Amino acid sequence: MSRSTSATELRIDLGAIVANWRALCARHPSGPVAAVVKADAYGLGADRVAPALYAAGCRHFFVAHLAEALAVRALVPDAMLGVLNGLWPGDAPLYHAHGLVPALGSLAEIASWAGPAILHVDTGMNRLGLSAPEVDALAAAPETLQGIELRYIMTHLAASEDPADPANAAQLRRFVDACARLPAAPRSLANSSGLFLGPPFDSDLARPGAALYGVNPQPGQPNPMQSVVNLRARILSVREVPAGETVGYNGTWTAARPSRIGTLSVGYADGYLRSLSHAGQALFDGSKVPLVGRVSMDLTTFDLTDLPKAGVGDWLELIGPEMPVDAVAARAGTNGYEILTSLGRRYRRVYQAA
Ligand SMILES: *Cc1c(COP(=O)(O)O)cnc(C)c1O
Repeated sequence: MSRSTSATELRIDLGAIVANWRALCARHPSGPVAAVVKADAYGLGADRVAPALYAAGCRHFFVAHLAEALAVRALVPDAMLGVLNGLWPGDAPLYHAHGLVPALGSLAEIASWAGPAILHVDTGMNRLGLSAPEVDALAAAPETLQGIELRYIMTHLAASEDPADPANAAQLRRFVDACARLPAAPRSLANSSGLFLGPPFDSDLARPGAALYGVNPQPGQPNPMQSVVNLRARILSVREVPAGETVGYNGTWTAARPSRIGTLSVGYADGYLRSLSHAGQALFDGSKVPLVGRVSMDLTTFDLTDLPKAGVGDWLELIGPEMPVDAVAARAGTNGYEILTSLGRRYRRVYQAA
């Protein structure tokens, strides 16, 4: 597809990701800051994001799945590459062959592994990680950990974006208590929002993801992170819709006045979520443009009636500094994480070098 015929453009600013990582490093004097690049670096492209952060000096990376680690391994040659979702039976040889570090979250996983590992302690999420009885068992029989090179003991915060939630302090207490009873090892605690909870939540290795990619780690307060994503789409067609006519599937929007409707080549198949129907907003020349009707698979309609200058071929901004990913998420009834990880494969992707 040539530049001139492209109807969509997803710009990803690698320099902003690196700047965000540096800003988080400055917030975390107690230890290095890893980069979580799971889910293809939250939809932004781990093959571009990981090397940019590596070039900036990042030496700790995390993914969720073994397959993700195998895809990233060569891009971050001598960095620690942790696999958060644990060690699946039979996978140990691949971890060894590629120098991957599993996050072990059960006694069974511990029994099946020898080599460098992260111990994942569950402090309240109740998904993965050693349960309290499993920590008790390990504390009573530390020889169980023979053969395991403890790189870190980690836990994951369940509500860190809400500093008022008492779960944060409760999890910290359980984590400190578990670490005190396990063999001495460096600790890894904060995710993005955890980095903003204050010094007690600092550790030997922070693990932010979302904040690197511009999601606000402090919802309700000004976003301290730089904007990373810019999504825009061209107006494919403009039509005059008489008052009383409807637009889109099932006629869920009716023109209350003679209207000019612009159609964009973006839909829910691109991760422009269907829940943005009647709720989405775009920007044209700094003006807000309301999404009308339903988001379809490949097309979305906007009301251009008050923007007579907007015509076929003009760009509408769907995500950007003035239409932040968190604002789009709020309109879609979700969070910035889901907006980013849903970003489609059909957009023309442009990477701005770090
Ligand atoms: C996804 C994840 C992170 C990163 O969380 P963000 O909120 O995106 O910063 C850190 N640790 C674990 C265990 C995770 O699963």
